Amino acid sequence: MSMLEELKTKIKDELPNLDWVIGWKQGFDPLQATPHFMRTEQDVDQLIYNPLCAQNLATFLPGMKDKKVGILVKGCDSRTIVELLQENLITRENLVIFGLPCSGAVDVSKVRKEIDSPGRITEVTFDGGHIRISTKQGSSSLALADVLLPKCRTNPYAMPVIADHVFGQEEKAGPCGQGESPALEALEAMSLEQRFDYWQYHMDRCIRCYACRNACPMCVCRDHCIADTRDPHWLSQETDVQQKWMFQLIHVMHLAGRCTECGECERACPMDIPILSLRQKLNREIKDLFDYEAGVDPEAVPPLLTFKVEEANINERGW
Ligand code: SF4
Ligand code: SF4
Repeated sequence: MSMLEELKTKIKDELPNLDWVIGWKQGFDPLQATPHFMRTEQDVDQLIYNPLCAQNLATFLPGMKDKKVGILVKGCDSRTIVELLQENLITRENLVIFGLPCSGAVDVSKVRKEIDSPGRITEVTFDGGHIRISTKQGSSSLALADVLLPKCRTNPYAMPVIADHVFGQEEKAGPCGQGESPALEALEAMSLEQRFDYWQYHMDRCIRCYACRNACPMCVCRDHCIADTRDPHWLSQETDVQQKWMFQLIHVMHLAGRCTECGECERACPMDIPILSLRQKLNREIKDLFDYEAGVDPEAVPPLLTFKVEEANINERGW
């Protein structure tokens, strides 16, 4: 029995005890996977699992806190569940976690840029580290390694760090944790002036759509978001770079030590702004200061959710 068939069988076993099981199904064409909310065995039959299943489904969990939910997770997604548990934003007893191996998640926007004549996509297949995209005009084959999401390189957890049922094997897992983010490395190599110009350029392109905020599983202020509130009125709705930069920095600071680098913010950005690198930079600082990595240990307390009079690695006043 294939891994997908095993998974479907287990989901069908658990279905009677759950309100929903969240997985993926094909979207509007074979290159598109979309979140899939399953309630019936017929729903389960539509389930897919392949490198197009990039969405971090844990994003839906805080809004379903009182429901009994089954959820499919890759290694990187599972860290979000751990972080949500640490912050008491979800209830472990209400969750059944189906853990899956991952051979890398495809960045569909990179694929669309690479294929010559997209037309109507008729079939997508995966074989020997390649993705083959067929259209009525012909087909293109791309190396998976060239079209993966940036998070695939940096997230070291190929298998879920928390799961009730695990499918597949770690040795089949893909490129996780192979190195640092090229975008972050490029930023680190810049002078302060160059970084300022870099972000000035990118923030000028931001259309202030807030897709990055809405896609983030750890961004849970909802109706109280600083970007929308009128009382107090922290941010104007003007579209100048300062306001947009201010929003981004507030988002980043709110995610410091909480961001699990799932990359959904950057994947959702319609302007391809490399905002994940900002979160990664803050996470590296948190790691250096507090030796803490978000979403790994359900029993750990995130450092910025607690307080110590003295921190071993902070010598703020030289005392
Ligand atoms: S800030 Fe981005 S990478 Fe971090 S948890 Fe939110 S969506 Fe994921
Ligand atoms: S998703 Fe991109 S364009 Fe939209 S607000 Fe965020 S950074 Fe700006």
